[in-house]
Amino acid sequence: MDIASACLAGKKCRYDGESREDPKIKEMVERGEVKAVCPECMARLPIPRCPSEIVGGDGGDVLLGSAMVLGRDGSDRTKEFIDGARKTLAAAKKCGARRAYMKAKSPSCGCGAIYDGTFSRTLKKGDGVTSALLKKNGIDVTEV
Ligand code: SF4
Repeated sequence: MDIASACLAGKKCRYDGESREDPKIKEMVERGEVKAVCPECMARLPIPRCPSEIVGGDGGDVLLGSAMVLGRDGSDRTKEFIDGARKTLAAAKKCGARRAYMKAKSPSCGCGAIYDGTFSRTLKKGDGVTSALLKKNGIDVTEV
């Protein structure tokens, strides 16, 4: 079974307490083809929560220890984001996932483009922390 960002399946787990439901992903979850996971919830971050962005690089750099995940209030969320990524990878391995459908632009789930760390809605190239870890482990990440 593959995995997908839980907010795409309709779970209200985003930082603002909302979802970003995608009908196709929701149907796949309902048919039991895909497991919905939220890395930030798995790291026990609250809903709602302060929005976070990656500063000094992308998710791959966070995993290497050369970039940080900071909340808009300046709080350091690096540890939680790495924890959520590891737990998501474990969940993906447990269900034998080959593919992950991940929510675009998120500092956890983003793939190919993420916000640039200035909280100005500006994008930069790169992956979120979870997508970077999934890719490193051979899981095909598709941006939704
Ligand atoms: S961490 Fe991923 S699944 Fe969770 S709310 Fe953010 S984008 Fe959605």
